Amino acid sequence: MRPRLKRGAIVLPLNDSPIEGSRIFIGCNGSGVECEAIGIRLIVGSFDGKKSAQEIAESLSIDSYIVCEVIQQLLRAGLIDHEITQIIAPGRFKEQDQSADAGYIQLQSKITPELSATTWIAGVNDGGVEVLTNRRLALIEISGENRIATQLYGILLASGVTQTKMASASRRDRARIGNQDMCAGLLASNDVGSNFQHTLEEKSRELALFPNKDKSASDDIPEMFLKIFIGNGHEALIAQSMSEDEIHLIVAAPDGPSIEVGPLVIPGKSACSRCVTLARGDQHPRAREIDIYRSTHTELEIPVTIAHFVAAQIATEILRFIDTKKSVLISTRVRTNYLDVCNPQHIRFARHPLCGCSWR
Ligand SMILES: [Zn+2]
Repeated sequence: MRPRLKRGAIVLPLNDSPIEGSRIFIGCNGSGVECEAIGIRLIVGSFDGKKSAQEIAESLSIDSYIVCEVIQQLLRAGLIDHEITQIIAPGRFKEQDQSADAGYIQLQSKITPELSATTWIAGVNDGGVEVLTNRRLALIEISGENRIATQLYGILLASGVTQTKMASASRRDRARIGNQDMCAGLLASNDVGSNFQHTLEEKSRELALFPNKDKSASDDIPEMFLKIFIGNGHEALIAQSMSEDEIHLIVAAPDGPSIEVGPLVIPGKSACSRCVTLARGDQHPRAREIDIYRSTHTELEIPVTIAHFVAAQIATEILRFIDTKKSVLISTRVRTNYLDVCNPQHIRFARHPLCGCSWR
């Protein structure tokens, strides 16, 4: 094992130790451990992923038992990585030496910020590289025509979900890019008037974290398929996803100055869109009429800040689900008030006894 400190962990000398420099704090604000040993700063300073415990002990003339103890303590605290997952630039082979390869160096620098999240996922010990590269195996299809849908498309591609697609019928009423699409996002004023679908496909190449080898090469075979329905008009597609056992995320149309994200539906296992409608009907006598009114009237476009905020919120939960199979949006809706985004409200739903999905 060749240990290295996790990205973002800091080492602080503690002055209250009986022997100068024999106690340190390792971790980050909020979580971390204190380690005590003679020469601890030198030991931890040698955790660069290149040397084994034995080699560190020999180079510092310290008992290897002490070095192993420190490694075990940091392993338990989830503060070190020790495995290496190779990153392979597109079109290269595993056996190739990539150290001087421009494509490889560019890719490595692009993925580094993502690793500062994935390395901290429980159980990860390779710096988060495998989790990140596995995002290429998820196929995400977005249906929706507002700014959130467009931003979400870009964020997912740039976060490594190479197989993010816009459903071909998702912009029936807004086939061309319009002024309302301008929101400091991935579409610019010189895109106005262009075909939405084609423009996004063109941009996907520059947006994607992992560049696609070339258009003719087939995509990686997906291991996870997830659909996202944003706004009104997807009832038939949602029903189809239910009957075909497809995992899908519902994002409601805006409701006054607020918007609700969720639930993420695992058909037959968690509350579905119909469970939510039935539960809302039980709680609020006018919920059904409001839902019908909203679904039959034109949706309002989302303010700029909310479009970015909610798109990032959705993308983060989708990535979490791809990376860990967990999400707070399962059987839950999160409502964001446009005027109070730092206090989103969580609304839990159980599977409704009258909804067919609970009889499966
Ligand atoms: Zn249901």
